[in-house]
Amino acid sequence: MAKNYIFIGAPGAGKGTMAELMIAAYKPVHVSTGDLLRAEIKAGSTLGTEAKSFMDAGKLVPDEVVAGMVAAKLDTAAVREQGFLLDGYPRTVRQAELLDEALTQRSLKLDAVVLLEVSRDLILKRLTARRLCRGCPAIYNVLFNRPKVEGRCDTCGGELYQRSDDTTETALNRLSVYAAQTSPLIARYEKQGVLVKVDAEGPKAENFVNLRHALNLK
Ligand code: AMP
Repeated sequence: MAKNYIFIGAPGAGKGTMAELMIAAYKPVHVSTGDLLRAEIKAGSTLGTEAKSFMDAGKLVPDEVVAGMVAAKLDTAAVREQGFLLDGYPRTVRQAELLDEALTQRSLKLDAVVLLEVSRDLILKRLTARRLCRGCPAIYNVLFNRPKVEGRCDTCGGELYQRSDDTTETALNRLSVYAAQTSPLIARYEKQGVLVKVDAEGPKAENFVNLRHALNLK
């Protein structure tokens, strides 16, 4: 049966990295609001232009904008067949309410909300050392998960770059936004009995083992 998951956790907790491994192993439909917004910016759309000013300041894009993007993804046949992995959504209590409504309307249910737990010190190190590939979804880190050839992706050879919101100043803003607006979701999902906490402090492979165990995945 297709499983539906949400990944929450501070920026830099490893949501994107764990999502990449989950997709390779279990093929859920990956819905990353950050990736969807970056694609809009790249395409030069009006939505992208509006979103960019929020993103560059480390602030959240308005709830209704992201909720609309997620709802469109939930309507695909692939979601029913393969399940979904929501990465970086919901990030506010309002978004969680909108998501509850969207799931109920589509008779979809959540199997687990995964909270990736990492200390603040490590998060700041990870964020400022993060590098993404221009050609594929691979994520590297120049401190802990370096590419074999500097500046080049191991998988596709694409150029690696740093996200414009991964500077120390913006990363600190994003952490405050997480504490104020996203962390209240932890209690909400705990109450619903779907929260699963995963130690994500270690190297990528070890964190993935923790994640699979927590979700009872083979
Ligand atoms: P991420 O790639 O998940 O770290 O997201 C990068 C940025 O995109 C965030 O700092 C926000 O500005 C914006 N963003 C991503 N997801 C959301 C969301 N669910 N709600 C509001 N803004 C979001």
